[in-house]
Amino acid sequence: MITKKKRIDGQVIARDVISSIQSETKKLIQETHVTPGLAVILVGENPASLIYVASKSQKANDCGFHSIQRTLPADSTEEEVLNHIRKLNDDQTIHGILVQLPLPDHINEKTVIQTVAAEKDVDGFHPLNVGKLGRGDLSSTFIPCTPAGVMLLIRRFLGDDLSGLNAIVIGRSNIVGKPMAHLLLNANCTVTIAHSQTNNLSKLTRITDIVVVAVGQPQMVKRDWIKPGAMVIDVGINRIVTSEHGERKFRLIGDVDYEGALVNAAYVTPVPGGVGPMTVALLMANTLASACRFAGYKIPKF
Ligand code: NAD
Repeated sequence: MITKKKRIDGQVIARDVISSIQSETKKLIQETHVTPGLAVILVGENPASLIYVASKSQKANDCGFHSIQRTLPADSTEEEVLNHIRKLNDDQTIHGILVQLPLPDHINEKTVIQTVAAEKDVDGFHPLNVGKLGRGDLSSTFIPCTPAGVMLLIRRFLGDDLSGLNAIVIGRSNIVGKPMAHLLLNANCTVTIAHSQTNNLSKLTRITDIVVVAVGQPQMVKRDWIKPGAMVIDVGINRIVTSEHGERKFRLIGDVDYEGALVNAAYVTPVPGGVGPMTVALLMANTLASACRFAGYKIPKF
């Protein structure tokens, strides 16, 4: 059983990871003259995507990477977007390519994901990398950044080997839920995947040591859903409207009733400041890993 009560501070851990990436990047450049290169492509001007892309490019700069950002007009044709990707696939200075989702409706997301070279797919969405993760071949794939970040948090507190522990992943998306379940399975957990069609969800969570929630429903997971001593990881990000002095404001909350969960749980991640900062840090870790593979250099573990 997990003991000890703690708020998991994703910001502090993400800063620690970024600081290690900075020093590993310096070593890589000194010893191989290879500078990790990250290209971020944005199609259109979705306001949330603009913020995400800017923060990813900024973080890449902070890490000492070669960072480029391409913003294509919303009415770009699919072929134009694919051509951009193909050029970056051939560019020896770029080791990671990320196409910010969602894409405009007239562009096929699957085609775009499959056009990114699998060896530069730092988002871990290419079918080849998804397949490797499913086979447990973690050393030669890219793990999607959010589940990779969650796993790093879990490892820091519970260790690498989760033998004997039960985990539940609530949500079965391709970018969070499914890869998360594979990672937990790979760490020897006994894993349940729950989703919108699952009955008696709270009955399942009450007997589970590790609860990862990635749904997008504000505070769905309540205090009495949590087994005493459990670890609760809240991936959800929900923007809710509040009113202060008659003024409309937005606030971010997770899928878990944080204060309630803290009563029973040993560890809980807050929103914001839990999983969110880890996602960007792990994108940088994947880009560094890709550059290390390219240079034939040992990949650092965080
Ligand atoms: P998604 O919409 O693709 O998937 C949601 C999943 O939740 C589905 O599998 C669905 O079956 C399940 N679900 C819906 N209602 C449910 C219910 N009542 N009970 C149980 N399961 C239910 O979403 P996603 O892309 O996986 O993202 C999930 C959440 O995580 C969102 O809030 C998203 O904003 C957030 N997110 C955060 C980060 C981060 O960096 N922190 C990254 C990605 C996603």
